[in-house]
Amino acid sequence: MLANADRFERINVTLGPSAGDAMLRLMADRIHALAGAHAASGTVTARFGSDEFAVLLRLDPTPAAAGKGAPDDAGPTACDALARRLVESLGAPYRVAGTGVHASASVGVVGIDASHRHAVAVMQDAGLAMREAKRLGGARHSVFTPALRTQAWQRGSLEADLRRALDEAQLFVVYQPIVSLADGAIEGMEALVRWRHPQRGVVPPDQFIGIAEETGLIQMLGEWVLRQACDQLVRWQRTLGPRAPRSMSVNLSRAQVLEPSIVGTVARALAASGLAAGALQLEVTESLAAQDAVVQQRLEELKALGLTLALDDFGTGYSSLASLHLLPVDVVKIDRSFVGQSAAGTHHRVLVEAVSMVARSLGLTIVAEGVETHAQAQLLAALDCHKAQGYFYARPMTDGDATAWLAAR
Ligand code: C2E
Ligand code: CA
Ligand code: CA
Repeated sequence: MLANADRFERINVTLGPSAGDAMLRLMADRIHALAGAHAASGTVTARFGSDEFAVLLRLDPTPAAAGKGAPDDAGPTACDALARRLVESLGAPYRVAGTGVHASASVGVVGIDASHRHAVAVMQDAGLAMREAKRLGGARHSVFTPALRTQAWQRGSLEADLRRALDEAQLFVVYQPIVSLADGAIEGMEALVRWRHPQRGVVPPDQFIGIAEETGLIQMLGEWVLRQACDQLVRWQRTLGPRAPRSMSVNLSRAQVLEPSIVGTVARALAASGLAAGALQLEVTESLAAQDAVVQQRLEELKALGLTLALDDFGTGYSSLASLHLLPVDVVKIDRSFVGQSAAGTHHRVLVEAVSMVARSLGLTIVAEGVETHAQAQLLAALDCHKAQGYFYARPMTDGDATAWLAAR
């Protein structure tokens, strides 16, 4: 098992390196305490890197399993239980230098078998499983499977391709209208990035934003999208006059908001394009916005530029109507998974209605995402949503198609 503390840099940065050292000692103690319980079967623990610990243990088959003639089954189950306890133990609150600290760790588990000819191969597989646990959000364990090797390889090749994509202009931006539910007026456009891969064809953002985040390429990619989007709205304002959309929405991912330079990047994109700040809307997801003081501060700084902030995908993740008033947002976008089912079932309709009521009481604008039918649009209007976006109105369009679509209205 390979245990790695989640976002340990933050602890070093916020509490100082000596508190970081103290945290690591406490983590080591907890690992010892747990692994010690298995000392009889020969357990080895080690600190492998800065915030990385390894536990090597031999799990003897339980008598029951051995009796059934299936000694191999005992290992995985016991190992799973131990990994779970390890994650739980490392995730319990810490006390460092008189203050309580919350931290967690991700654990990768690998069963050593004949395919592991060297210790290095074992560590590699444990590392893949550990990183998978982090990718799934951290504070959990993942068990190695050979598929993780293939995925890592594919990600590696996509990563190299993505670096080239930026240089070779394979990325492009499509635009999807956001309309007023009251009168169908075009309120804005959302910029969505696409990648025209030379072999794979058009790759959707879900398949490469994560890679861009992991590799740091998101900063360049994000800035590029932002510039395209701002320039495009200015072009529409010039050529379409009053028929131009009122605002442009651009998505920001977690890694972008955590980077302190984002405020300067946005300010420069506005200045370079000549777009008024009030015409730019940045969209962040709820789990990010609710996260911590650093993020909230960053969002306030962005808002101070004069732009608006939207809470994207509301209803997924850590949704909390109760904490909506704590976030510095102007707009709430109700996730399409709720919108899509709102016309079909009471449960989702009531949820949309509740979100709409709370958001309204806070003076927020409500946008329903993923509207695909007339019935959904009618229902959302009846539930007091302000705006809508979805295939019912228009699919995301290339700049040329979007220009024609706007001009035809
Ligand atoms: P999102 O911000 O929630 O964007 C809306 C997604 O819903 C888009 O998917 C859009 O094509 C899709 N959609 C719109 N209307 C409908 C509908 O009626 N039915 C259905 N089934 N889907 C609809 P897309 O373009 O694949 O983008 C996926 C996600 O990728 C976005 O979700 C956003 O989180 C992220 N993303 C896209 N562009 C960027 C970008 O430039 N930067 C960052 N950081 N993230 C981006
Ligand atoms: Ca969005
Ligand atoms: Ca969304």
